[in-house]
Amino acid sequence: MSDALVIGSGLGGLLSGAILSRAGYRVTVLEKAVQPGGCLQTFVRGGLRFDTGFHSVAGLEEGGPLERIFRPLGLMDLPWEQVKETDEIVMDGVSYRLSDLSFPLGNNLRLSSPAGDVTEEEYALVMEPFKKGSWRLPSGDMLVKRLAAQINGTVRTGCEVTEIEPGLVRCADGSVYRGIIISDIHPRQTFALYKGHIRPSYLHRLQVLEDGPGIFTVYCKLRPETRRYQPWNTTFDGNLMLHYGNADEKGFARSADLLAFSAKHVPDRTALAERMIARVPGLAQAVEEYWTSTPATWERYTGTPGGSAFGIRKKDASCYVHPRTPVPGLYLTGQNCGLHGVLGVSETALLTCREILGEETLNQILQR
Ligand SMILES: Cc1cc2nc3c(=O)[nH]c(=O)nc-3n(C[C@H](O)[C@H](O)[C@H](O)COP(=O)(O)OP(=O)(O)OC[C@H]3O[C@@H](n4cnc5c(N)ncnc54)[C@H](O)[C@@H]3O)c2cc1C
Repeated sequence: MSDALVIGSGLGGLLSGAILSRAGYRVTVLEKAVQPGGCLQTFVRGGLRFDTGFHSVAGLEEGGPLERIFRPLGLMDLPWEQVKETDEIVMDGVSYRLSDLSFPLGNNLRLSSPAGDVTEEEYALVMEPFKKGSWRLPSGDMLVKRLAAQINGTVRTGCEVTEIEPGLVRCADGSVYRGIIISDIHPRQTFALYKGHIRPSYLHRLQVLEDGPGIFTVYCKLRPETRRYQPWNTTFDGNLMLHYGNADEKGFARSADLLAFSAKHVPDRTALAERMIARVPGLAQAVEEYWTSTPATWERYTGTPGGSAFGIRKKDASCYVHPRTPVPGLYLTGQNCGLHGVLGVSETALLTCREILGEETLNQILQR
C-alpha cells in the first residue's frame, strides 16, 4: 500500500485524501489547527453555531459540475437545502440582477472592494454556476466530518508541517512522515517549507502572483422571533452579503452573517460592523449581540497570506498553478492552485488526483 501525506485539512486536502483513499492509498492528513476543515470550520458563540467560509455552493443540480464529484463520494445525501440568491448589484445608481446578465461583464461593471477590485474573470467564473441555483447545509462541518470519515488513515490536528523534503515532511512536534505529498496550502508557503533546490524561474512566478482580497464578517445573534428565516443570500451594493443561519422551530432566524470584501486590518471593527448592520433594513433592532472577523483573523487561523478569502487572483490563465510541481512526488491542490470556493476547490482536487492516479483510475473511482 502506498502512503500519501496531505498538508492541510481544507476542502482541497480532505477531498484529495478521500479520493486517494478510494484508490487504496494509506493517507495521513496533517493539520496545524485544532479543528479540521480550514475555511469550512465552524465556531460556537452565544449558544449558536456559526459557519465561517461556507455559506452556499453552486453546481449541485442533477448532472451539475459539483454533483458529479459529490455523488460518487457519498456527499449528496447530506441535508442540502436549495438556496435562492437575490443578487442585486447597484452600480452608479443603476440596479442589475446577476441572473439577467450574461458574462463576461463589461468593463464598467466591476465589484469594488477596499482591498481592490474583484476582476470580471474571477467574478464570472465563480458566479456563473450560481445562476443555475445554489445550496447550503445546516453547518459546513457536516461536509468536513463526512470527508474525514472517508480517509483511509488519519487526520491529525494540531500538527503543523514545518519542513518538506522529497517524499518526506517534518512537523513542529518532531514527527516525520514519508510518502507522496499533496499540499493544500498556498504554493508560496509550500515552497518556503521546501528544503531542496527549485528552479528560480518557478519560484519567481509564484512570488509575482497576487492574492485576492479578504472578507470582513459580522456574525450576529438575533433576538428571538425578530427576523423570519429565509434560505437565501442577499447582496447589497455588490459588496455586502447577508446570509441567515438556521431557522428555529417557528421559522425564525437565530443568526445572520454579514460579509464584505475588506482590507486586511480593520482599524475600527465596531464602526464597520455597525455600518454594515445599519445597511440592512430592520436588522439593527433584531441584533442582540455580534462578533467580527477580519482578513487578519483568517490569516491567523488558516495561514492564508493576507487572509485572502479566495487565494491567488485568477485574472487570466497565467494565474493558475499546475498541481504537478518541479519536485517529484510533491503535488499542489486547493483554492490557490485552481478556482476557489467549494466548486472550484473540488474541481482542482480532481486535477490533483488525476496527476497522481491517472485519468482511467480517477474515472473508475468517480463512476462507482
Ligand atoms: C469569509 C469567507 C466566505 C466564503 N464563502 C464561501 C461560500 O459561501 N461558498 C463557497 O463555495 N466558498 C466560499 N468561500 C471560499 C471557500 O471557503 C474556500 O475557497 C475553500 O474552502 C478553500 O479550501 P482550501 O482547501 O483551498 O484551503 P483552506 O480551507 O484554506 O485549508 C488550508 C488548511 O491548511 C492548514 N495549514 C496551513 N498551513 C499549514 C501547515 N504548515 N501545516 C499543516 N496545516 C496547515 C490550514 O489551517 C487550513 O486548515 C469563502 C471564504 C471565506 C474566507
